Amino acid sequence: MVPDEHGHKTLRGGRKPVQPLAQEDIVRQLDAAILEHLDWMLRWNRSAVCKVKPPSDIVSDHAHFLCGFGNWYDLHQQDPLVAQPAFEALALAHRDLHQNAAWLAERAWKDAKIPVEEYDVLIEKVTRFTDLARKLLKAFQKVTSDLDPLTGTQTRQTMTRELMRERERSLRSGKPCILAMGDLDHFKQINDTHGHQAGDMVLRLVAAAFLEALRPYDRLYRFGGEEFLFCLPDATPEAARQALDRLRRRVEELHIPTGGGRAIHVTCSFGIASLSGDIPVKTTMQRADKALYAAKEAGRNRVTIWTPEIGLG
Ligand code: GH3
Ligand code: MG
Ligand code: MG
Repeated sequence: MVPDEHGHKTLRGGRKPVQPLAQEDIVRQLDAAILEHLDWMLRWNRSAVCKVKPPSDIVSDHAHFLCGFGNWYDLHQQDPLVAQPAFEALALAHRDLHQNAAWLAERAWKDAKIPVEEYDVLIEKVTRFTDLARKLLKAFQKVTSDLDPLTGTQTRQTMTRELMRERERSLRSGKPCILAMGDLDHFKQINDTHGHQAGDMVLRLVAAAFLEALRPYDRLYRFGGEEFLFCLPDATPEAARQALDRLRRRVEELHIPTGGGRAIHVTCSFGIASLSGDIPVKTTMQRADKALYAAKEAGRNRVTIWTPEIGLG
């Protein structure tokens, strides 16, 4: 991708980049690709067995771009969720199967019969593509089931296990790791004034702003209704304070449309505590929560680092 004169990145052929994908989009697409290729194989067989002229989308040199999956992959191959070796292997298997199928369909149409070994090779390629697609689908389904459907953040299901692992990693590497609790300010008022649906939209957009700003190895969990837990590896309390303060300002600047022409403005408060070898993860979470409480007490819309003076209450 190359930036244009406005700094926007464009794909080859001058296309603008498409919307970033969510895990759910990929699950849907892979599911559709498996079904689509089953249908495609039936059409291929129909043409070969019944000696019907094969349709152009089967014999084209570009057949791998012409099906729904090929089209989708071409459009999204730069997306961070798609640009990974497992997808590349799937795309190669896909191209391989279409090229082989195109050539063989032409032969079946022109010649009396295609050798059984060549048919077997095609079936092997179809099986390979379907197996790879199923494996990827399963992997993405697993990740998706750990995501909160409203905000796309991780759920509490796997949180404790992952935080314990982060604590171990931090101990082993000697690098710091921060837990932070974030909570929207006066969120009940937003629901009361604008309705629950508008409240949901606020939650969605705030979480999207958080996710967009975090580093790839940071983690964000929906801890409760309007409360989020951040895990920031390799961050000192001061670095975390600066990062969360940037998030705080981003949220403060959001203009969330209500539909009635007015915009909702929202703020959030954060409490920070360090994971450490001499206290359990649970205590760090309690400290972050106490620091959050202190931020609320001090007037909200701020980031507070836990200190022994704040205590555990
Ligand atoms: P504070 O600044 O002290 O945090 O005040 P607050 O109003 O944000 O906190 P409080 O705990 O009193 O209210 C939280 C509200 O969040 C109450 C609950 O109805 C709302 N809430 C929780 N989950 C959801 C949700 O998924 N969607 C919506 N729209 N509201 C939710
Ligand atoms: Mg709140
Ligand atoms: Mg709350």
